[in-house]
Amino acid sequence: MSHPNVISFHYTLKDSEGEQIDSSHGHSPMTYLEGAGQIIPGLENELKSLKKGDKKSVVVKAVEAYGEFDDRLVFEIPRTQFPPSEKVSVGDKFRAGANPDAAAGDDEETSPVFTVTHVNDTHVGVDGNHPLAGEDLYFEVEVTDSRPASAEELQHGHAHGPEGHHHH
Ligand code: ZN
Repeated sequence: MSHPNVISFHYTLKDSEGEQIDSSHGHSPMTYLEGAGQIIPGLENELKSLKKGDKKSVVVKAVEAYGEFDDRLVFEIPRTQFPPSEKVSVGDKFRAGANPDAAAGDDEETSPVFTVTHVNDTHVGVDGNHPLAGEDLYFEVEVTDSRPASAEELQHGHAHGPEGHHHH
């Protein structure tokens, strides 16, 4: 396998109706280490054939992005399972079964985040799908940099530097 690169790119993301969902323009470009799972697989697949300066329109199917919508992640929890003192409101988010103090840690990123969809006297309705689950994603990308990963980045399994997703 060839030496992984660290890729930086600008993007605009739209849904199938042409509504803009997100954009990196006006911010730092997104930076990731190839093969580290830092961006959705369908986008990484397309970016790997591009060089610095290349622009491309990329359509990423839901299954290669945030997955298909999963009905099993939509359910109700008895109100009694929440501490009586805890206020639960529509739009609240929590991680199932996780220590809230650990929620910021990388190790917890795989457990789904549930969003409260409705609350009544007896039950709390939740949805554990990613907000973009089931959506095909329409990207306009521009590769702004591509360089070989450093030994330290390879060891850590993520990109470093002022444009990286975290700093040491
Ligand atoms: Zn690191």
